[in-house]
Amino acid sequence: MHYLFDEWGDIKKRARGRSLFIFLDFDGTLTPIVKTPDKAELSAKFRTLLGKIAESQNLKLAFISGRGLADIKNKIGIKNAIYSGNHGLEIEGPKIKFSLFSLPGYRKTLERIKNDLKQNISSVRGIFVEDKGLSLSLHYRQAEKKLIPRIKTIFHETVISYLAGNKIKVRSGKMVLEIRPPVEWDKGRVVLWLLARQIFAAKKEDVLPVYIGDDVTDEDAFKALRNKGLTIFVGKPKESYARYYLKSPNEVMRFLRDISGA
Ligand SMILES: [Mg+2]
Repeated sequence: MHYLFDEWGDIKKRARGRSLFIFLDFDGTLTPIVKTPDKAELSAKFRTLLGKIAESQNLKLAFISGRGLADIKNKIGIKNAIYSGNHGLEIEGPKIKFSLFSLPGYRKTLERIKNDLKQNISSVRGIFVEDKGLSLSLHYRQAEKKLIPRIKTIFHETVISYLAGNKIKVRSGKMVLEIRPPVEWDKGRVVLWLLARQIFAAKKEDVLPVYIGDDVTDEDAFKALRNKGLTIFVGKPKESYARYYLKSPNEVMRFLRDISGA
């Protein structure tokens, strides 16, 4: 993994004269990680910059978040961008709109698990269950560290029968455990799908995809774009499919400003 600004010359050369399709995660990428997800706010400066990028002819912007679609749209609030919620299960943007999975009985299963989780875990402080429509998240960022193994045990014991029955899938992220539909669909797949259908005003064929993210679920996108685009991890460098890293959301803003010329 290379620090992006150490290779800035090469990157600029690669981007020169090409359309950019920029995919951005939200939490931890555009905003610092905060105690509860509702407290995360995009800065006004960053929103203005993203708005400018979205208006540019040879730039396209897509937000790919684990949040629900309505939530992520509301957090970012700019026009002419593509929004994807629930790690790609919902997509909306100029001339696209759908929710991918209405599996029979799936919503009922989620309700049942939500109740089970609330019951089984009610004695543990500092956790909360978020219902994102197509998925459930168990957040434990505010729980005492020593309780985390117990939280995980309760979670996994609660979901095992649904998991074994192939009714759901589970994933973990930063201080969160998630229950999702039992389908092979993730941030990587949604990015490749969006790339395949993208239409730019000019130079249709010559598009450089850029993906920026900070979490485990972003690895699917890094992997999918490994040989196709710029993959940028946000945080302390670690083992990842991403080729470059930036240290913070502030550096992401600087990079986006410089690469877009906005
Ligand atoms: Mg994130």
